[in-house]
Amino acid sequence: MYDIIIIGSGAAGLTAAIYAKRAALNALVVEKDYMGTGQIAFSECVENYPGLLGLSGLDLGDKFREHAEQLGAKFHEGEVTALSWNGENWTVEIADGSRIETKTVIFAAGASHRRLDIPGSDKRRISYCAVCDGSLYKDKTVAVIGGGDTALGDALYLSKLSKTVYLIHRRNEFRANKSLQERVFETDNIVTVTEAVLSAVTGGDGVEGVDYIQRGEEKHMALDGIFAAIGSVPNSRILDGICELDEKGFVIAGEDCRTSADGLFAAGDVRTTPLRQVITAAADGARAAIAAENYISEKN
Ligand code: NAP
Repeated sequence: MYDIIIIGSGAAGLTAAIYAKRAALNALVVEKDYMGTGQIAFSECVENYPGLLGLSGLDLGDKFREHAEQLGAKFHEGEVTALSWNGENWTVEIADGSRIETKTVIFAAGASHRRLDIPGSDKRRISYCAVCDGSLYKDKTVAVIGGGDTALGDALYLSKLSKTVYLIHRRNEFRANKSLQERVFETDNIVTVTEAVLSAVTGGDGVEGVDYIQRGEEKHMALDGIFAAIGSVPNSRILDGICELDEKGFVIAGEDCRTSADGLFAAGDVRTTPLRQVITAAADGARAAIAAENYISEKN
C-alpha cells in the first residue's frame, strides 16, 4: 500500500515526488511517457523560472526529474485507465493490467495540445511542437496559429530556421506576455496576420496552404508547414464522475489542491487556476504533497 500515487511526471508531479520523498512518504509516480518531464519539454527557452534563466524546457524538466530520482522517487511507466475508491483507499488501474493500492492520489496529468479542427486538418500533418519539428522546415515558409505564449515562443524559435513565419491569430490582440510580443514585432521574418480565422488546410498529401477569412474577406496563403499552438485541454477524462470538474474539464480544487473527492488531490495544469506556468505547477506539486501528508496524518 502506497501513501501517495502521483499520476503524471511534469513539473507538478515531479515536485510532488520530491516533497513526498522529503516527508519520508512511500510514493510512486505513474507516468504515461518513459522518462517523462511534461509539457515543459516543448519550450525552447524558459525565461521566467527564478535562478535558471535561459535553460531550455527539456533541460529544466531533466533537472526536476534528476532531483526526484536522486531523492529516491520510484516511477512506473504506464497509462492510468481508472481510479476507484473503496471508502478507505484508492485503487489505481494501469493499462498494463497493474492495480495499485494507495492512501492518496495526486492527479498531475497536465493538459494536451488542443487540436486544430478544420476541414483538411485531419488529412495533413499539422505540427504541435516547434522544438521537435522545426528542423523539417529549414528555409521554408510556415505559419504558427495562435496568440498565446506558446504561439509567440514557437514563432520566435521557427524564425531562426525558416525563411518566413506567418503568425496567424484570430483577434487583433495577442494574449502572450508583452516581452514576447516586442521580440516578435522586432523580428523581420515574422509576419503577423491578425483577425484571421482559418477555414481549411489545403494541399494533396502534404500541407500546401491555408484558407482563411480576414475581416470578412476570403483569402489563401501558400505554406510549407503549419504549427498549431491554440491552447490545451486538461487530461482529466478518467476523473469524470469521480470529482468535480469545471465546464472545460479542469479539476476544481483550491490552493491546497484538495478535490471534492476524499484523498484525491489535483496539481498543475489540470487544476482550475488563474495562472498556468512551470513555476505554478511546481508550487502545486509541493502543496499537494503536503496536503496529502496532512490528510494521511489526520486519518491515523
Ligand atoms: P493559451 O494562452 O490558451 O493561448 C491559446 C491561443 O490560441 C489564444 O491566443 C487563442 O485565441 C488561440 N486559439 C484557441 N483556440 C483556437 C482555435 N480553435 N483557432 C484559432 N486560435 C485559437 O495557450 P498557450 O499559449 O499554450 O499557453 C497556455 C498556458 O501556458 C498559459 O497560461 C501560458 O501563459 C503558459 N505558457 C507559459 C510559457 C512561459 O512562461 N514561458 C510558455 C508557454 C505557455 P484567443 O486569444 O482569441 O483566445
